[in-house]
Amino acid sequence: MSEKISYLQWMLRVLKQSVELGGFPEEVYQILSRPERVLIVSIPVRMDNGKIVVFEGYRVQHNSALGPYKGGIRFHPEVDLETDMALALGMTLKNSLNGLPYGGGKGAVKVDYKKLSQGELERLSRGYARAIAPLIGDEIDIPAPDVGTTPQIMAWMVDEFSKIKGYNVPGVFTAKPPELWGNPVRIYSTGFGTALAAKIAAEKYLGGFEGLRVAVHGFGNVGQYAAYFAQKFGAKVIAISDTSGTVYDPNGIDTKLAIEIKEKTGKVINYPKGEKIKDPDASLYVDCEVLMPSAIENVIREDNVNKIKAKVISEGANGPTTPEAEKVLYERGAVIVPDIAANAGGVIMSYLEWVENLQWYWWDEEETLKRLQSIIENNIKRLISKYESLRSEKKTVTMREAAYVLAVERIYKAMKVRGWI
Ligand code: NAD
Repeated sequence: MSEKISYLQWMLRVLKQSVELGGFPEEVYQILSRPERVLIVSIPVRMDNGKIVVFEGYRVQHNSALGPYKGGIRFHPEVDLETDMALALGMTLKNSLNGLPYGGGKGAVKVDYKKLSQGELERLSRGYARAIAPLIGDEIDIPAPDVGTTPQIMAWMVDEFSKIKGYNVPGVFTAKPPELWGNPVRIYSTGFGTALAAKIAAEKYLGGFEGLRVAVHGFGNVGQYAAYFAQKFGAKVIAISDTSGTVYDPNGIDTKLAIEIKEKTGKVINYPKGEKIKDPDASLYVDCEVLMPSAIENVIREDNVNKIKAKVISEGANGPTTPEAEKVLYERGAVIVPDIAANAGGVIMSYLEWVENLQWYWWDEEETLKRLQSIIENNIKRLISKYESLRSEKKTVTMREAAYVLAVERIYKAMKVRGWI
């Protein structure tokens, strides 16, 4: 992919390839290449200086063949409707791949939230919830946080929506704080899933996970817990990094201590032991069996892929590997568990929270984690088995391509029995 194309064009290309690779009818592409419904809203917000600023927002409802729309809300200065449409299509595929009873949706507000005061952020969040209220609901469309939005913002939004309805509707937004119908597992669910995906892939392709050397790039919400659970599952975490640099210790890093240090000081480099390397990307290049890129997109590229030594890569971040780099890794025999599966722990946990909320019933932390683990294990095993079966027919198929085929297949079957095609 050398020419510059938009994210939506890229997603449509992936969709088309998946429809062809899976041998599905062309109508599947025709339907999935367009959203079912798009809402554009204007949100006037009274700023602290007394002036009104009008923000633009969207909610894209992409496809509902498998259930209510589900997907996050992004607050970002560079979002636009086209990007939101691409993200909503991505959620349709992600929810389908992960066996959830959901279609896909995505919302966004064009705003640099870092420039807002806490009061302005609350008024904007409530204004957006009011603006999209006619189209959402706990059995219609269930948003959640994404880049720039938080559990606190979900709490304001669920409160605003409930006020409009005149009664409490806990299940209309997910990933809420534990104090307001959220679940404590949510905080570590994505990292847990990334580590679990790495473990299952390593067991299949490297003969086991215990004692393997693991490196983690990025030490935020996903990276911290991916590292913590990799260690808990018996591997040796030898490198972690954030923007402050890389910590390398071939004897193994105490991930719990590293999380405490990161929480206290904001920098992973303050971890008291091991070797400190200035380059945050050094964690990508250490000699290890398993790598979990968990920071940002496009970190494994054509120009650095030859330095990557890992044989199993579990993508905690969204889009950390470019298509060119993936090709090189594939030819080398490395296995990449793609982001759409490897970082799905969060949305699966959102699903469990929603089920709790609809029933007004709560599982304790242990029971929730057990359910989350069982869903993730089944999903990753199903994906590996699809990957193996496609490879036995087609020879060169990546696990990412297998994931998209599996995702489209489930939506196709639902649309077929509904009589849409
Ligand atoms: P975060 O902001 O909590 O953490 C990001 C971490 O990456 C920070 O430690 C930061 O220092 C580090 N980082 C940033 N740039 C870096 C660089 N160039 N080199 C090394 N480290 C760098 O974010 P997060 O919630 O952990 O999300 C990380 C990725 O996972 C994103 O791509 C996000 O879209 C994706 N994701 C997150 C979730 C979730 O539940 N949090 C779910 C699905 C996908």
